[in-house]
Amino acid sequence: MKYRLLTPGPTPVPEETLLELARPVFFHRSPEFKQALQSVTEDLQHVYCTKSPVVTVTCSGTGGMEAAVASTFPAGSKAICLISGRWGERWRNVCRALGVEVVSVTCPYGKAVTPDQLAEALRQHPDAVGVCATLSETATGVLNDIEGYGKLVAKTPAVLVVDAISGLGAVPCKVDDWGVDLCVAGSQKALMLPPGLAFVSVSEKGEKAIRANAGARTFYFDLRKYLDKIKEFDTPYTPANTLIRALVKSLKRLRTEGMENVWARHARLAAACRSGVTALGLKLFAERPADGMTVFASPDGVDSGTILSKLEKQYGLKLANGQDTLKGKIVRLSHMGYVDQFDVLAALAGLELVLAEVGQPVAVGAGVAAFQRALASA
Ligand SMILES: *Cc1c(COP(=O)(O)O)cnc(C)c1O
Repeated sequence: MKYRLLTPGPTPVPEETLLELARPVFFHRSPEFKQALQSVTEDLQHVYCTKSPVVTVTCSGTGGMEAAVASTFPAGSKAICLISGRWGERWRNVCRALGVEVVSVTCPYGKAVTPDQLAEALRQHPDAVGVCATLSETATGVLNDIEGYGKLVAKTPAVLVVDAISGLGAVPCKVDDWGVDLCVAGSQKALMLPPGLAFVSVSEKGEKAIRANAGARTFYFDLRKYLDKIKEFDTPYTPANTLIRALVKSLKRLRTEGMENVWARHARLAAACRSGVTALGLKLFAERPADGMTVFASPDGVDSGTILSKLEKQYGLKLANGQDTLKGKIVRLSHMGYVDQFDVLAALAGLELVLAEVGQPVAVGAGVAAFQRALASA
């Protein structure tokens, strides 16, 4: 049986990147490393649509979030956190752990936080030093309107800090055009690398806030050091240099394809997947879906865990369950990064068989046909 990884992180890694990871370990203070970090940094700027520096930190995505908060927001300051799911909740938890007062702006799971909600929060809290948002809310599959937030935050002294960990490389993320000050990404989602690296872009306004925050409450995650070192394509501490060397290959794929094409490819696949899923009588969970994944509700009376374990055990298809209160209620099917139409086709085919097996009234082939038709007409 062939194993297919279709979770919204980690995601499959291209063969040419895996081959890089098989190469011998090398020394990190070397011309070879500087060259790799330069290539990665320039290609990340392309993927982020920014001219600002993008630093690479050895940690998972949450480490990048922590670096952003600790470096930018002084202790005792106030931040507005826009929360549409578990990852928005993580912003709140990171802020609280670092002594930042949080104003939570929430919406029901499956919906997006509207720019109007943010406008109201900014009116009520003119003293907020930052706004934390999530581009693609991986817990629910929702896409938030970062461009809309950016227009509002740009008019204030606050900085806009965005978690684009599952969005960057799948959906448009125009950091400079949208006025995003710090944008955090991770290696294991649409950037097609194993877990282990986080990336943070820092705008001029963001860097000013960071330099003005004398009391950064962190040593390792102090972004000032990363910003200083990246000027020479270097890092303050031993980086995961073999991951960075491999990332060169994955980012070149995006660079070669072009971001507009990358986004269009994800959009086409996502639209077709949504057609396939709804043709099976399943309900989409996200009101404003992000194109890196398709999230749908488990049929009434069926625990999504039952569907997921059958998919994995019987067909080698690894999809993800909901988290926390959504556990057992939804299925998350990722099609970001190195996933093509035939991987998604396999997932839909397996899903049909499993739904039929648990007694759901599906016509086997209906989802697959709708998916194929949608792709053919896209
Ligand atoms: C995966 C993910 C994270 C966090 O990631 P870790 O790499 O597990 O620390 C944060 N935010 C979003 C939106 C994610 O999808």
